[in-house]
Amino acid sequence: MNKIILIEYIDALLQADKYLKVDASCNWLQVDSECENISQISYAVDCTDYIIDQAVANGSNFLIVHHWLFWWVEQPVLWMHYKKLQKLLKNDIALYCSHLPIDAHEKYGNNWLLMQDFISYFNLEEFDIKRFGLIENTTSIWWSVRFKNPINLDAIAWYCKFIGIIPNIYNYWEQKQVQSLAFVSGKWNIQLISEARKNNIDLFVTGELVHYESTYAKEIQQSVLLWWHYETERCGVRALSEHISTAYNIPIIGIDIGIQ
Ligand SMILES: [Zn+2]
Repeated sequence: MNKIILIEYIDALLQADKYLKVDASCNWLQVDSECENISQISYAVDCTDYIIDQAVANGSNFLIVHHWLFWWVEQPVLWMHYKKLQKLLKNDIALYCSHLPIDAHEKYGNNWLLMQDFISYFNLEEFDIKRFGLIENTTSIWWSVRFKNPINLDAIAWYCKFIGIIPNIYNYWEQKQVQSLAFVSGKWNIQLISEARKNNIDLFVTGELVHYESTYAKEIQQSVLLWWHYETERCGVRALSEHISTAYNIPIIGIDIGIQ
């Protein structure tokens, strides 16, 4: 598969140029390669040293990640940053990064997929979905689902265990029955928790929180389900890579190494 055609296809699919002003990550090719023909793709959430080692070991010449190697600002190439860049260059692996475009995408996006999995597990029939935040004025893109038949928090905790996540539910709203959820993969912020409250979201699902954000959620009685940063962001790169593999008949390998 020609590398340039592949890159142009992913850029267009994810509408990468829309995020120029709102995302500090460079959302396209971050490291080029000499090789022009892509024969093996690896994908992972993070661009870490141990992920690159795996991509080298499995013979990939194209690596797709959600968490970047480079920000827009210039960075010194030192220490781990140097080591990672050196490994990519030495092994002629092109690195493609997609941060917010992969959070936001309406088919291969983390939040869309988290919501769709929830809808299908609970067999929701009467529900409305809503997209919050325009790309231009938000740093996290999220979806909510509102449904007619309430679901007990215990059933949601069970669902988390079913998909391999240890749930951490902060029931600040003090209600057991839930009829709406909002999804923010990765990390939330105060602005989003306020928006959830204003929109009467029963349970705000996100990856991680810092202390002052949890105290604020408690103050405004916004219940939160913590799903861990990594766990909320595995699905997007996988769905995107599977799509590319099917569209262009390129083998893919998922490198699923978290920090736990
Ligand atoms: Zn993230």
